[in-house]
Amino acid sequence: MKAMRLESIGNLFVREVDKPVPGPGDLLVRVEVCGICGTDRHLLHGEFPSTPPVTLGHEFSGIIEAMGADVQGFKLGARITGDPNISCGRCPQCQAGRINLCRNLKAIGISRDGGFADYVIVPQKQAFEIPLSLDPRFGAFCEPLACCLHGIDMAEIKAGSSVVVLGGGVIGLLTVQLARLAGATTVILSTRQEAKRKLAERLGATGSVDPSAGDIIAQITGPDGLVPGGVDVVIECAGVAETVEQSTRLAKAGGTVVILSVMAQGDKVSIEPFDILFRELRVLGSFINPHTHRRAADLVASGRIDVEALISREISLDEAPEVIRHPPAPGEVKVLVVAGKG
Ligand code: NAP
Ligand code: ZN
Repeated sequence: MKAMRLESIGNLFVREVDKPVPGPGDLLVRVEVCGICGTDRHLLHGEFPSTPPVTLGHEFSGIIEAMGADVQGFKLGARITGDPNISCGRCPQCQAGRINLCRNLKAIGISRDGGFADYVIVPQKQAFEIPLSLDPRFGAFCEPLACCLHGIDMAEIKAGSSVVVLGGGVIGLLTVQLARLAGATTVILSTRQEAKRKLAERLGATGSVDPSAGDIIAQITGPDGLVPGGVDVVIECAGVAETVEQSTRLAKAGGTVVILSVMAQGDKVSIEPFDILFRELRVLGSFINPHTHRRAADLVASGRIDVEALISREISLDEAPEVIRHPPAPGEVKVLVVAGKG
């Protein structure tokens, strides 16, 4: 079968490999779709730890073609989405239920072979069934949506809350939609590209601002701003110093800031601790998808989240290394590797 292998840092190729054989408790899944994520670019350049040689791809779904011994609750021919993050279940964090903070965390498509391939092995506890009637491409959105859901849960958005989302990539655009579903009545997206601001407003944002056109703090929190005094919740999804610094200034007193984006280890930002103290801000980090994959899969299946609008391009596996080697094109939100393309 074909697989896209990270042979070593900087070396990414599609080549023939042996079709894997499911061990006990494993599903052999014929991949229908696998999304390209910014993390794949970080993995290629060694900016995020991985264990090459390895097949990349952690946003996948497909059809169960075979099962190892001891698999229960799955049928051949069913469609599943994979939760790539495998916790050990035994370490103190796992025992406390914080499986995303597992000391021995492994991930499909990072530390073991993933979904940029014709087939992927998925341990049964990582597999979540989704309907065969669903557009197969939509399965690729369960994993990023599960990460956003964790952030939304941490933010404790209530009916009537006001929210600012910083950064209009796929994570920001999914978060805008989840914030509305969670009951926020004001959801403002800040992102530089006009096409993404327009898209966000189509997807439910009540307003948007362009951070390259002026000070968004005044535009949002000022006396004549969109939400004078600041918002209940800020969700940072851009991953640049500027937006992290904006996040604490946009929240109103008693408000919540959730950092969803990944900044490089060692990067620093400038925040006034006095501001956090004096205005009693809750500043939280939200890492991956603990216990949220099932809900994300159900949300995608329900059609309540528009994922179709986020698909910029569909490509073949052979085209994928070139796409991952380059930064996203202007306006591009999500690129999917779809089986049978090209
Ligand atoms: P992305 O496509 O790179 O999106 C980030 C967006 O931020 C860009 O599209 C850019 O859009 C916008 N941006 C850049 N500078 C900005 C600024 N100064 N002000 C406002 N917006 C700005 O990435 P993504 O896939 O959506 O992911 C977002 C972040 O979440 C990444 O850091 C990713 O690593 C992280 N992530 C975290 C988790 C988790 O578990 N917490 C899971 C998945 C991803 P414009 O060009 O329009 O400004
Ligand atoms: Zn653990």
